[in-house]
Amino acid sequence: MTGLKKTIIRGGLETLYFSAAHMLMRPFVAGVGAILTLHHVRPPRLDRFQPNRLLEVRPSFLEDVIRYLRRCRLDLVSLDEMHRRLTQRQFGRRFVCITIDDGYRDTLNWAYPILKKHQAPFCVYIPTSFPDRLGELWWLALEAVVARNKRISLLIDGEEQSFDCATITDKRHVYDQLYGWVRSFKTEDELRNAVRDLSARYQVDIAAFCEELCMNWDELAALAADPLVTIGAHTVNHVMLAKVPEAVARSEMQMSRSVIEASLGRRPDHLSYPVGDPTSAGPREFRIADELGFKTAVTTRPGVLFRAHRTHLTALPRISLNGEHQQLRYVRVLLSGAATAVWNGFRRVNAA
Ligand SMILES: [Zn+2]
Repeated sequence: MTGLKKTIIRGGLETLYFSAAHMLMRPFVAGVGAILTLHHVRPPRLDRFQPNRLLEVRPSFLEDVIRYLRRCRLDLVSLDEMHRRLTQRQFGRRFVCITIDDGYRDTLNWAYPILKKHQAPFCVYIPTSFPDRLGELWWLALEAVVARNKRISLLIDGEEQSFDCATITDKRHVYDQLYGWVRSFKTEDELRNAVRDLSARYQVDIAAFCEELCMNWDELAALAADPLVTIGAHTVNHVMLAKVPEAVARSEMQMSRSVIEASLGRRPDHLSYPVGDPTSAGPREFRIADELGFKTAVTTRPGVLFRAHRTHLTALPRISLNGEHQQLRYVRVLLSGAATAVWNGFRRVNAA
């Protein structure tokens, strides 16, 4: 994320907080509940170049958030319970679901002890190629290429282009450019090929990130044994489903459910679309998830839950606990629904 974008988001959250506008808007925009998104929960690293830092929060922040949710008398519920409340229209108390994407080992080592201590149910969404050790955490490969080199060159549109990335400022800039470039591809294959080429050129072992960072099946089984934990599907290869043919999207969702069932003995009822923004999951994916019988499926489209979401259960929005904004007052503004209402132009359901 660019510095400017960060500043604008932070500025917006601060304005809503200090103007108390979020308090005035709350009755109209707060909805019936919310789903929180987390990725990594771990102690902060000191490195100055951390382009993926938005994907991680420190353990103490997670604990602060849970204490805050309890103080607000919000019910912390599982996805099954959320589904029950939405479909049976039980909206007496606002609720929050905690979800953690990707199945990093820090979920087990850092998030789980805190969630267990506070008896907070949560869901972990697993791309099955990660515990199978076949996954490509391509955004980390991209980060490693930029972090470890002073200058990189690659083919863009058939032309060799070079980038200086000796300083931290250069590295941040080059990462943003490369990230924007690979995300602009129309297909997932093009993205993967570009990152594979770059990794091969600069001796970054993409496969190593799985082993280093992600839970294996034994660790997942230990976690899944706790009734507080729901294991959800997150495709096999962590693909942006809207960028692959329909048959592939369908089999990615279906296969991940079957692999999890075969490995852990329980068939997941809930799905998270990888990346989850409108370029990765849209109406076609929402329909397929519904046809495959998933009870719910979550996006990363920002928003709280409204009654109307009971008819859009495979297109649910979430609120991300962003590592760049680890302040309780931001969580307060986000859960008030005010920030996401502004973001969504006051549309309650965004499933288009
Ligand atoms: Zn993911």
